[in-house]
Amino acid sequence: ETSEQKQLIELHEQAVKLYHHILINTKMGESALDYLHHRGVNDETIDLYQLGYAPQQRLLKPFFDERQADYQLLRKSGLFSETQDGKLRDRFVDRVMYPIRNGTGQTVAFSGRLLAKDSDMPKYLNSPETELFNKRKILFNLDLARPNIRSKQPALLFEGFMDVISAYQGGIKSGIASMGTSLTEQQIYDIQRITREVIVCYDGDAPGQKAIKRAIDAFKQTDHQLDLKVVSIPDGMDPDEFIRNRGADKFQTLLQQAQSPVDFDLNYLKQEANLKTEEGQAAYISEALKLISTISSGISQDLYLNRLADSFSIDKQVLKQQLQPLIRKNV
Ligand code: ATP
Ligand code: MN
Ligand code: MN
Ligand code: MN
Repeated sequence: ETSEQKQLIELHEQAVKLYHHILINTKMGESALDYLHHRGVNDETIDLYQLGYAPQQRLLKPFFDERQADYQLLRKSGLFSETQDGKLRDRFVDRVMYPIRNGTGQTVAFSGRLLAKDSDMPKYLNSPETELFNKRKILFNLDLARPNIRSKQPALLFEGFMDVISAYQGGIKSGIASMGTSLTEQQIYDIQRITREVIVCYDGDAPGQKAIKRAIDAFKQTDHQLDLKVVSIPDGMDPDEFIRNRGADKFQTLLQQAQSPVDFDLNYLKQEANLKTEEGQAAYISEALKLISTISSGISQDLYLNRLADSFSIDKQVLKQQLQPLIRKNV
């Protein structure tokens, strides 16, 4: 850690305090605080995550000017955008502020969320890449989740940090999330360093299902030693919505019912397939066999073959013959 990095972290810590103060103590922060309360985020959680509010009126720049902060340092922090003539302006305006901490608990960036739905601005705005912040390397909440994961709770991988925060408030404290990017090799490596058990808990909507598929593939591509499972959230909800509507206990039940990646992939395949035509059925069966061929245990391969044979009333021996060359290809 260079002295410049130290100063940048210090800058972030001050920004965290200012935004948090505005949220909880000022009139300016009232609507944002209402927003969070309406979302079911309680004061204890707001305090733990040091949530804040960047008001309409740009206050961060004058705040640092008063403290005679160095121009170059402010410029490198990512907290400001630069005008044509080199002036710095607060980047985050009228947004709920989520501090993003690195694995050691230092704040290195922010994500800001719009309060209103009807806007053509992006819902979330993240800090740009800086000396401190590389979004492909960060896992949100890793600092708080790590001890719980180490004490044998599976790592729960969420899509959004509101899912992580909602779960944490409900007593499910081993959640982490990537920063709106697909999972990177570095992130998989970091997870692998602390646990073997990972449950993917992405959103129950269509983009979420696609993202699960991508995550499973990303895990497959690294030669990981992880016991991977996948949760399906019903009715298109995301984990945050599910926990708010049905409670954290019901979410625990979903976690206990988590599927293997092969089961998820088979389900996904089935939903995409056109099983009304014979061509569609044949295509599905051929893809399903490819998936089954990747299973390492011969016994579970056999069980999957049974199921496939039964559901299409075909001879299991025929499937077996088709499977053999695929298995050889994988070796
Ligand atoms: P909320 O519940 O506040 O609407 P969410 O986490 O459910 O948030 P999603 O739309 O499901 O939001 O997106 C998942 C994640 O993807 C977000 O947490 C955020 O990290 C990222 N993301 C979503 N929209 C954007 C955006 N417009 N720009 C950048 N990142 C985004
Ligand atoms: Mn989503
Ligand atoms: Mn979501
Ligand atoms: Mn959500």
